Amino acid sequence: MDILTKRPRGTEDKLPKEIYKWHTVEKIAADTAEAYGCKEIRTPTFEHTELFQRGVGSTTDVVQKEMYTFDDKKGRSITLKPEGTAGVVRAAIENGLFNDALPLKTYYFTRCFRYEAPQSGRLREFNQFGVEVFGAPSAASDAEVIALANDVINRLGVKNISLEINSIGCPTCREEYHKALIEYYGKYKDKLCDTCLERLEKNPMRLLDCKSEICGSLKSDAPKMLDYLCDECKEHFESVKRRLDALEIAYTVNPLIVRGLDYYTNTVFEFISNEIGSQGAVCAGGRYNGLVEEIGGSPLAGLGFAMGLERIIMVMDNQKLDFAQEKGCDLYIASFDEETNIYAMTLAKKLRSQGFWVEFDTAGRSFKAQMKYANKINATYCMVIGSDELANGSAKLKRMSDGEELPVKLDDGFANRLNTLIMDISL
Ligand code: ATP
Ligand code: MG
Repeated sequence: MDILTKRPRGTEDKLPKEIYKWHTVEKIAADTAEAYGCKEIRTPTFEHTELFQRGVGSTTDVVQKEMYTFDDKKGRSITLKPEGTAGVVRAAIENGLFNDALPLKTYYFTRCFRYEAPQSGRLREFNQFGVEVFGAPSAASDAEVIALANDVINRLGVKNISLEINSIGCPTCREEYHKALIEYYGKYKDKLCDTCLERLEKNPMRLLDCKSEICGSLKSDAPKMLDYLCDECKEHFESVKRRLDALEIAYTVNPLIVRGLDYYTNTVFEFISNEIGSQGAVCAGGRYNGLVEEIGGSPLAGLGFAMGLERIIMVMDNQKLDFAQEKGCDLYIASFDEETNIYAMTLAKKLRSQGFWVEFDTAGRSFKAQMKYANKINATYCMVIGSDELANGSAKLKRMSDGEELPVKLDDGFANRLNTLIMDISL
């Protein structure tokens, strides 16, 4: 029986009483992205498994261990999306979006699915806000995408988030670096975890990302990509830094941030909180100049980021930030019998069409119980419709905060009167 009333491990219910937090974050994120010229894109919740094997990379934790993959009834392998980028690239290629004016700038909200060990800040179904920009190879775009993420965080009022950046160069300058990594880690082969041992030859940069204790402790002395950058990649990174300086966005260079796949290039970055335990990365992103081609399009520069919304909201909760509270019910109309209830219903319909939040009794409650309910839903005003009110076309509006009563005519001017009263209160 439990299985009917318990959600699957690693999932969360976002309940009505806290949904205003999500609305606030989503609105601020969307408004900010649009101020940068991004347009929303919505892609399917599931894609062909091959897309993620290509687009995320078959040597990544996500693809090797974390995907929700199943065969559909025709035996096609389907995967619930573990991240947003691959689907956006696929959709852009399929719908010819790269043939329009470039850069193409997109943003999205998506649920992601990863079979991970659930813990605080780590879920099996979670939500991301993401931005992807295509056709903008200049360092200006790296800085702009970082600035966008930074703006969202600032507009939310979140404090104490640090920005760490790195450059992982291009496939050419990375070749030498890979050799150096293989040589360095090769000396510790007997200590490496199985996963790292297996990745050492195929994808040595991944080892810098390993969270196991032993491999983790080897990171700090490992060779650094920054020492291997070619002139062009070095200049790109310097330009990104100059631009962040000009925008007064503080950052530290962390040579241990990697992406570890050939199609990721140049800038990588993370925004990190140290207030929500070990799952502190609230946003991660970077440039992926090789990805569009990898997925089957013509070569095209790309970059973006994804922000973990559960983690951002955890930080906001932790910092006790004022989420914009959603407004309360404007008016509750109490009634006594079918006739007055029908009148309440038609009045509610009229006022709702003018934008008010209006409620009346749909539960067949007593008058007393209706008033109790009006209190519970925090109604700003309450109005009683009895047979006298019906006969006279007038009623009394009761302000719930102090009980003050105001006589009102229930004519066409009522909505305006209600509006003025509500505005007066909110001032
Ligand atoms: P981590 O190192 O924490 O596993 P990641 O490198 O797997 O993160 P990305 O794939 O870059 O994360 O995803 C971008 C963002 O999505 C992360 O910075 C984080 O805020 C959020 N995120 C990733 N995985 C989860 C998860 N399992 N539950 C909740 N949020 C997540
Ligand atoms: Mg992860």
